[in-house]
Amino acid sequence: MKFGGTSVGKPERMHQVSELITKESEPKIVVLSALSGTTNSLVEIGNSIASGEREQAKKQIEKLEEHYQSFIKELVKEEKHYTKAKAIVAEHFEFLTIILKISFSEALSKDILAQGELLSTKLFSIYLEERGIDHMLLPALEFMSIDANDEPQIGSIKVKLSQILKTHKDKTLFITQGYICRNAKGEVDNLKRGGSDYTASLIGAAINASVCEIWTDIDGMHNNDPRMVKKTVAIEQLSFEEAAELAYFGAKILHPASIWPAQFYKVPVKLLNTMQPEAKGTLIIEEAGSVGVKAVAAKDGIVAINIKSSRMLLAYGFLRKIFEVFEKYRTSIDMITTSEVAVSVTIENTPNLKEIIKELEPFGTIEVEDNHTIISVVGNEIAETKEVLSKLFACLVTVPVRMVSYGGSKHNVSLLVPSSYKTQTLQLLNKGLFGLE
Ligand code: ADP
Ligand code: ASP
Ligand code: MG
Repeated sequence: MKFGGTSVGKPERMHQVSELITKESEPKIVVLSALSGTTNSLVEIGNSIASGEREQAKKQIEKLEEHYQSFIKELVKEEKHYTKAKAIVAEHFEFLTIILKISFSEALSKDILAQGELLSTKLFSIYLEERGIDHMLLPALEFMSIDANDEPQIGSIKVKLSQILKTHKDKTLFITQGYICRNAKGEVDNLKRGGSDYTASLIGAAINASVCEIWTDIDGMHNNDPRMVKKTVAIEQLSFEEAAELAYFGAKILHPASIWPAQFYKVPVKLLNTMQPEAKGTLIIEEAGSVGVKAVAAKDGIVAINIKSSRMLLAYGFLRKIFEVFEKYRTSIDMITTSEVAVSVTIENTPNLKEIIKELEPFGTIEVEDNHTIISVVGNEIAETKEVLSKLFACLVTVPVRMVSYGGSKHNVSLLVPSSYKTQTLQLLNKGLFGLE
């Protein structure tokens, strides 16, 4: 069971989480995010330190500490546990204050980011102790690891985690940190923003869990982004492939990579609402449940690169040479369209963009357009479902669609639009594809 930032963001929410995890006696591992807002604050603190604004960082640290001090006042009742919680808060903020005095490094910034999940789990553990709920705190840094390419080492995670669990056979409730891990150098690192979902899915896969529950602040995956569109509805069932496409193409409810471990190890995933536990939520399994359009999602910060060359005409090996440039800079391509004399690809905006463009220049005329958004329409076999394309384009006549990718997957049609058209596109699709306004 994984609980996100909002689900643990207030003392009364943590109290509610303790109810949810003790409802059934089945053994479980509970993954917690940092309290909502904490990781954002830690990012800001890191940025201030990186840019030499130590006074500013000091103020930000103090403000965050005040938040935790008032949080624990309502979290626990008894003096004994309050003293313990106070000591934990003091310990972690002392660490941040010491960091202020050390010269900044990338590794240090990861240490700063790890404080959120360390705090939330330790404080939750003290609350469980006060309630007499038997449990054990599992330090994620002892089993969660990534390799030199930032990929989770599922084999090693499996071995280490089962060794730890084996030595605590008497326990049935484990609490651990989402998001944080160790990298190939043994330093503290993380699974990127929103990474607690990924932690949960990796753990679910590693222990062959009966289910991986992602508890959040909404009743499952909705058909559209609720932050952009007024009326959206929860989807009852999604296949792993559909959910993976939605997560990758911007549905914030799931970390982009969080589906593959569950899919590979066949662990069903449930998306559930902490604020409304009785709601059905979304079930993600092998089968899609139904055919047709399920949802749309949007991914911002996309750059379109067009490479035009008459040398491409009837030539072979041209695409390979182009793709090698992206491979060299470890940059993944999201969408591709080609004609006989040109190819367009999209990538996420990257600090390496200038170098990539420079290396592509010998291949032809290069045009670069940034500030684009990929809009993904996802659903089981939509590419083979009648009228999807006609409906799609009929409702988007006012949108300057820059690229279309169709047929690469049976479950996805992707469009590239200028980011300024994102909200409008999502709203038009809500009406045109789902009849919702
Ligand atoms: P948590 O802190 O629990 O991980 P997140 O904020 O990361 O929660 O993810 C949940 C949020 O994702 C929702 O509150 C909602 O605003 C946003 N979201 C974006 N797209 C979707 C979607 N298609 N369905 C549901 N939620 C979505
Ligand atoms: N706390 C981390 C973040 O805000 C991880 C997560 O919440 O999933 O990105
Ligand atoms: Mg999240």
